[in-house]
Amino acid sequence: MNQRPLSRSVEDYLKAIYGLSEGGSPASTSSIAEALDIQPASVTGMVKRLAEEGLLEHLPYRGVQLTEPGQREALRVLRRHRILETYLCEKLAFPWDDVHGEAESLEHAASDALIERMSAALGYPSHDPHGAPIPTRSGEIEPTDMKTLADAVPGAYLRIRAVRDEEAEGLRSMAAGGLVPGVAVRVNEGQPTEDAVGVTVGGALGEVVTVQHDLARRIFVVPDETQS
Ligand SMILES: [Zn+2]
Repeated sequence: MNQRPLSRSVEDYLKAIYGLSEGGSPASTSSIAEALDIQPASVTGMVKRLAEEGLLEHLPYRGVQLTEPGQREALRVLRRHRILETYLCEKLAFPWDDVHGEAESLEHAASDALIERMSAALGYPSHDPHGAPIPTRSGEIEPTDMKTLADAVPGAYLRIRAVRDEEAEGLRSMAAGGLVPGVAVRVNEGQPTEDAVGVTVGGALGEVVTVQHDLARRIFVVPDETQS
């Protein structure tokens, strides 16, 4: 592979395909179009070009998946994005619901040297403000195939590990309910409605919060071994 910088749109494709295939299955043309908010017809041409450049491969009838060089490039963009978000929050006092958009633009412009200086100034963070793991410089990343709060069973003791950050309004609702990375939640026994999950936030005497499934699907949880 040559080392000429990739265009902004190529970086966006690689990042979107990486996100869509994180669970292990290939990304379909329609899901890529939806993620990038463009027409499926325009995806087909770009996918062909990226396949010719060796960044992804087409699996007939199933979709596309990144090759090893493609994944390496996607992780480089993710590293830049997540370090930028962390820097904006921690050093420049941006609120956590207002950094994704900034990072979406800056991730294509920031040099690796700038990103590494930011990482050093932050003390080499391992996760961004939304709990997402930051890929290392050598392209390693913590596995992120997690369950969401919408899939949780009544009675479960959980800990919020990460939240999706694309929607500012969703992030504000989460913050208002105390649903932020690191916090312990217990799924209540009786459920409020079919489209919502009731949880107790931050230990047994915590506040009871009703989380609509739309929001709960954006909250990633892991079992909490310190409770139960
Ligand atoms: Zn983001």
